This record gives sequence, structure tokens and C-alpha cells, in this order.
Amino acid sequence: MTDGLAIENYEIVNDLLIVSFADKSESMVSLKLLRERCPCASCEGETDALGNLYKGPEQALNPSSFQISGLQPVGYYGLRPFWKDGHTTGIFTGTLLKKLSE
Ligand SMILES: [Zn+2]
Repeated sequence: MTDGLAIENYEIVNDLLIVSFADKSESMVSLKLLRERCPCASCEGETDALGNLYKGPEQALNPSSFQISGLQPVGYYGLRPFWKDGHTTGIFTGTLLKKLSE
């Protein structure tokens, strides 16, 4: 992956995720939006070659679904939140985080 936006630093302040990128820009994304836009196959769905969308069962979200117990960097370009309701399969790229903050 060479077209990604490298993540330099990140922190959670209250209910906001603040990410600084290697190009010195910053993104702020609310945890609520972050969870709603979780890019994993179960939340976002996957499209097969024929264009059919497959999605996991709708998840019942509760207040702990919007809280993060930890964040793990994935290479230079990704960040994986550990949601307190046990959901950990979504990996956000720097490019996606940038988009969500706009
Ligand atoms: Zn997900």
C-alpha cells in the first residue's frame, strides 16, 4: 500500500478520535461516527462479482458500542479500534479517517 495516508499519532479525547498524519494534517472523528462507518465486512457488507451485497446480521448497538477500550496500529496506514462491546474487526485506513473528518 503506497497511496495511503500514514498515521503518525493518535489519541482519544472524550468521545473524539484525533489522528495526526505524516503530512502534519489532523483528523477529528467522533467515536459514534467511527462506529457507524465501521468498514469491516460484517458492518459494511461485501459485494460479490455479480454485485450482490452480503452483510452480517444487524448488530444491536448499545452505549458501549461507541466506547473504545484500545487502539492498535495496523502497519503505517491503518488503525483498529477495540470497541467495548467486543467488536474488533474494523480497520480504518488513514484515508478513510480523513474522509470521515470532513
Ligand atoms: Zn464492523
